[in-house]
Amino acid sequence: MHEFSIVMSMLDLAEASAREEGASRIEAIHLEIGALAGVVPEALEFAFQGAREGTMASAARLEVDYLPAVARCNTCDASFELDNRWGVALCPTCGTPSAQLLQGKEMQLARLEVA
Ligand SMILES: [Zn+2]
Repeated sequence: MHEFSIVMSMLDLAEASAREEGASRIEAIHLEIGALAGVVPEALEFAFQGAREGTMASAARLEVDYLPAVARCNTCDASFELDNRWGVALCPTCGTPSAQLLQGKEMQLARLEVA
């Protein structure tokens, strides 16, 4: 399952950086997930509940910021939010069907709360 492997790698990262800070446990993990990353929020939360057992984050909260997909038109340079999952975009300003994705595929650890 896609979400489970994301959670495992985020937990690894979180534990490594918590240890570096000399923390004994992780209280919250903040993630940034792009709208086009293909992550199902419920599945992510479910995977986290299972994966955190036995880690420094065993009682941690998972806080996720879902970032909207944003593209820039190659023709007129307008930036706009994509409202579909496939990355096919018609520029709302000039109607050109080509755009460059600026944001939307992120999967990153944004912040940790440790104790
Ligand atoms: Zn345009």
